[in-house]
Amino acid sequence: MAELEGLEFGKSDFVLLDEVTMEQFMENLKLRFEKGRIYTYIGEVVVSVNPYRQMDIYGKDTIDAYRGRELYENPPHLYAVSDAAYKAMKRRAKDTCIVISGESGAGKTEASKYIMQYIAAITNPSQRAEVESVKNVLLKSNCVLEAFGNAKTNRNDNSSRFGKYMDINFNFNGDPTGGHINNYLLEKVNVFVCFQLLRGGSDEMLESFHLQNDAAAYIYTREGAAATVSSTYPATSNNDRSSHKAVMNALGVIGFSEEEISSIYQILASILLLGNIQFESDGENVQVLGQEAVKHISELTSTDPDSVTKSLLFRTVATGGGEVIEKGHSEQDACFGRDAFAKALYERLFGWIVSRINSIIEVKDYNPVLHGKNTVIGVLDIYGFEIFDNNSFEQFCINYCNEKLQQLFIELILQQEQGEYQREGITWQHIDYFNNQIIVDLVEQPHKGIISILDEACLSVGKVTDTVCLDSMDTKLSQHPHYTSRKLSPTDKTMDFQKHFRIRHYAGDVTYSVEGFLDKNKDLLFQDFKRLMYNSSNPVLKEMWPDGQLSITEVTKRPLTAATLFKNSIVALVDKLACKEPYYVRCIKPNEMKSPVLLDDARCQHQVAYLGLLENVMVRRAGFAYRQPYARFLQRYKMTCEYTWPNHLMGSDREAVEAIVTQHGFQDDVAYGHTKLFVRTPRSLFSLEQERAAL
Ligand code: ATP
Ligand code: MG
Repeated sequence: MAELEGLEFGKSDFVLLDEVTMEQFMENLKLRFEKGRIYTYIGEVVVSVNPYRQMDIYGKDTIDAYRGRELYENPPHLYAVSDAAYKAMKRRAKDTCIVISGESGAGKTEASKYIMQYIAAITNPSQRAEVESVKNVLLKSNCVLEAFGNAKTNRNDNSSRFGKYMDINFNFNGDPTGGHINNYLLEKVNVFVCFQLLRGGSDEMLESFHLQNDAAAYIYTREGAAATVSSTYPATSNNDRSSHKAVMNALGVIGFSEEEISSIYQILASILLLGNIQFESDGENVQVLGQEAVKHISELTSTDPDSVTKSLLFRTVATGGGEVIEKGHSEQDACFGRDAFAKALYERLFGWIVSRINSIIEVKDYNPVLHGKNTVIGVLDIYGFEIFDNNSFEQFCINYCNEKLQQLFIELILQQEQGEYQREGITWQHIDYFNNQIIVDLVEQPHKGIISILDEACLSVGKVTDTVCLDSMDTKLSQHPHYTSRKLSPTDKTMDFQKHFRIRHYAGDVTYSVEGFLDKNKDLLFQDFKRLMYNSSNPVLKEMWPDGQLSITEVTKRPLTAATLFKNSIVALVDKLACKEPYYVRCIKPNEMKSPVLLDDARCQHQVAYLGLLENVMVRRAGFAYRQPYARFLQRYKMTCEYTWPNHLMGSDREAVEAIVTQHGFQDDVAYGHTKLFVRTPRSLFSLEQERAAL
């Protein structure tokens, strides 16, 4: 519960709304945004609105004001939850985590950086060199991951194309000793680092990579290059030059070797060159257009040029009789293969960079007997719920992830409430809430769920199309209350008969187009490319492709599908979060124009709905909306009661508080815990506040 600021700034905690309605919620959000108050609590959850302007609230003074303080002692801020998470970890040896969610452009990554900066600022007061170096590497890793994983999109100039979960490890002193990063990659090749390389790389470097200083010359960066005309990011070559230097420098500081750094850039260059390769068919045979590029790719990847050509044009297949033959691609297959290869090169590069960083920041030689318990603060910055005009496989995965996180959120918030009531000796009252397990099951249940049905379709021999797969979903899921399709609801003209299905998510209905689902789920990469890379004489590249050593006859087991891999990683993530004490930051994007003054009602209501914020307020209020330690309550309201003002004549703080409550007549609205007063409805408190203000 936040310190009650003056009401001219609105209510600093949404639990204090007179009524929990969207109208009142929005009114308060808007008022606070207009007054430059971008943070508001729901209990211990921070609701944050992207200010789209530099705010003077992150400096050293602010850090000092929040350091070691309780949540309610200062106005709502990211620093307050960061401190709460840190304190819980340090004082109670609890692993904690901070979960940041919200849609693209809502401010998640900025928030995660402020949180990390805060933690860096308040730790290691004695400036021990080895701790400083750990902090430096942790902070520098952001710069590298953003370069390799962020891109300009039409919704955010600096959009993370991956979800990131970072554990920071601490020793018993509360100082960082290392960390670990998990990434949840979204596919995108035109990430910043490509622009930085093309526009910011030195002439010698570009020349050695056979690249031109022009992003528009490459198919994979052409789109992004055109987009820069109207905007400043990905920025001018000056900026790209300094970003390029910064990334090279960060890689060095983190501990990448010269050889590794040059391999990274060679792979990037190969991806760009690969994208420009075209094919030509004379009706029978397919040829590569541009032998020059093939030569350059083979040079950059330390492979043989003939093998590069061959893997672009042929695939090795094992016949039913166990014979191995080479089958020529059609022009279309060759293009598909090329793009799949480029995408896989990028994915493996990104994954490898993350695992290298992890091996460097991993806590080594930690001896719990010597150093005490090693505790963790996890920070999760992950894409929020997405509803577009056209929703595909990516939205399906992202929204499933959000269902899982929502479920965890509800469970943990309820659990937390229950825990607090138990600690304080107050009777627990049951709270009604929507349990979205049923939707999670719809997606992930073995044999019956959508992912299983997709996987089955991907595994079956013969030509199973997206629409055949949709038919199978319709048959198996027709009874499910959260699933429908045009075939099942023939009168619903908002869906295409052939290709749409709809899931009723906790956050609202989303219609998905099944087109492309199977290909994306199979995520097929011909074994020939894997083998090509495994046979590279560059050890860094070889290390990224261990599965390339299998010959085609050995590749009998199908690799896991994209949806199943994603599901497994999200299940593992949820397991990690579930055993930690959670803190939440819910980010809201105020408008589509990146304007610092506009709060678009419809857009915000939509986000408030799918972040489940009203439910959150209700859960928080269902029991006791307001709670505060006796001493703190007494200090704020003692002047409103004759027994406590000017001198408090009662025995204990609790008795004094009882006197205040009784004098104001809301004794039926409270419960007395061991250390705190619990107030059921905020109204009672308001009468007190008003009286206090009138004095
Ligand atoms: P995505 O899901 O696309 O990665 P995101 O939620 O991570 O989006 P950010 O990149 O954090 O969004 O924020 C988008 C932009 O909004 C930032 O580049 C910055 O310009 C602005 N912004 C966000 N938070 C703040 C803040 N606290 N103060 C000032 N500007 C901010
Ligand atoms: Mg981001």
